Amino acid sequence: MAHPNLTLRCAHFIGGQYIDAPEAIEVTSPSTGQRVGGIPCADTDTVDAAVSAARRALETSNWGGNSPRERLKALHAWADLIEAEAQTLAQLEAICSTRPAAQVQSGDIPVTAEQIRFFAEFADKEAGKLAPTPDSAFGFIEDAPYGVVGAIAPWNYPISMAGWKLGPALAAGNAVVLKPSEMTPWSTLYLAELSVKAGLPAGLVNIVLGDGPVTGAALVAHPHVAKVSFTGSTRAGGAIMENIARTGIKPMTLELGGKSPMLVFEDADLDLAADALVRGILPNAGQFCVSGSRILVHESIADTLAKRLVERFKAPVPGDMMETTDGFSPIISDRQMQRIDAIVQASRAQGAELLVGGQRFDRQGSYYRPTLLADVNKSNPAVTDEIFGPVATFQTFTDEQEAMQLAAHATYGLAAGLFTRDLSRALRLTRQLETGTVWVNRYGRSRDHILPTGGWKASGLGKDLGREAYLANRRTKSVLIDL
Ligand code: NAD
Repeated sequence: MAHPNLTLRCAHFIGGQYIDAPEAIEVTSPSTGQRVGGIPCADTDTVDAAVSAARRALETSNWGGNSPRERLKALHAWADLIEAEAQTLAQLEAICSTRPAAQVQSGDIPVTAEQIRFFAEFADKEAGKLAPTPDSAFGFIEDAPYGVVGAIAPWNYPISMAGWKLGPALAAGNAVVLKPSEMTPWSTLYLAELSVKAGLPAGLVNIVLGDGPVTGAALVAHPHVAKVSFTGSTRAGGAIMENIARTGIKPMTLELGGKSPMLVFEDADLDLAADALVRGILPNAGQFCVSGSRILVHESIADTLAKRLVERFKAPVPGDMMETTDGFSPIISDRQMQRIDAIVQASRAQGAELLVGGQRFDRQGSYYRPTLLADVNKSNPAVTDEIFGPVATFQTFTDEQEAMQLAAHATYGLAAGLFTRDLSRALRLTRQLETGTVWVNRYGRSRDHILPTGGWKASGLGKDLGREAYLANRRTKSVLIDL
């Protein structure tokens, strides 16, 4: 049931206006399982209209060519308005997502505003370089925006993911056509409306709604989309690579899936580690890319830690995302919950011991119990597959060498956590881990937006956040002048 004060539009946002279109996809609330509204599915013509609007906005406003300080000021104004509208944005998000409105309002939104300001600050500080050429010539490396960036976001943190895409692309002087997930469209749509209210040129931020195979594919393949920035599953990332290879080579940033290990050594602070392990898998019901879904523990502390985790995994109480402040999140869809359960049951059939959980909560909505599986070998599906739910495996090791063997994943390399008081060990093992991020004696991102995030191996290509994300939205041109 829709919230009486929310406008859940069945429309795209193109050229600074809502463009109503017939409903093609139903949107449901994972908290209740009920329909909350519907959205259109943009076809090639609608995607073309959005890309054309983006190009027109760049031409008429000279967004990328004007004083960079103007970009900076406009983006700061947008960030201010996002904070001012936090309550509406949070409700538009929580009505169909797995994020509690209260947490979106107090966490995701201020952090997103902060990140937009962070990227805005690069606009008037990053510059090209002079090249060390002989006296007879003058060489320099100029950098420039791409033009229109095509961005595609997942459902798990809709506003945050939209911010990661829009912030650096706009600060770097580009226009964006963004497709949010078909399951969580409305907060992103409203972000775009706020961009125009804040004074960004109409057409600089365009939102097309629709699914991956139709709308996403059309966006990626559009000849005037100069760069693609994608966050989602490794499977969809592969489809996008294929699409780009077929329809015209262009640069892409891909932030993909993971199966991240959290390793606890015998000398770790166990209170700190237990807290971090829980925070590493249970927020958003484990539906975050860097979730620490493989817990690896030294055999000497395994029993103690397993007991503590079992107690902590029994504690969460589900909440309705529109009302709760700290209630446990639902799984995004019933279908996804069934997939999670199928992997858990397959894991048990292959010999895993269920320490806790292993079934849904007995209530409306798609809530799955925090689940811990022990006695799993390297080929158990709970160890190999990205589950994207509140499910962790619990394995033990006897020494560093075995710990590193277990930590390495054949496919993924997104993040890893190390818990030890031995700094030499932490640094030694950090070097060995084939992951894009390593956290030591903590698990999860901080507000240090300067640290880029992104995967190694099949977990991704390129980075979000950090200076790297800004630079990934600009391209260089080498200029050589004979004097
Ligand atoms: P998904 O891949 O199913 O969908 C992501 C987005 O891609 C959606 O907007 C979807 O409509 C679109 N899409 C799907 N197929 C497409 C195609 N063929 N062409 C173009 N677009 C297509 O992922 P999801 O279920 O929304 O999100 C969960 C996944 O995202 C997990 O694998 C998670 O690890 C990953 N993720 C990664 C990061 C990161 O920073 N590495 C962050 C968040 C989520």
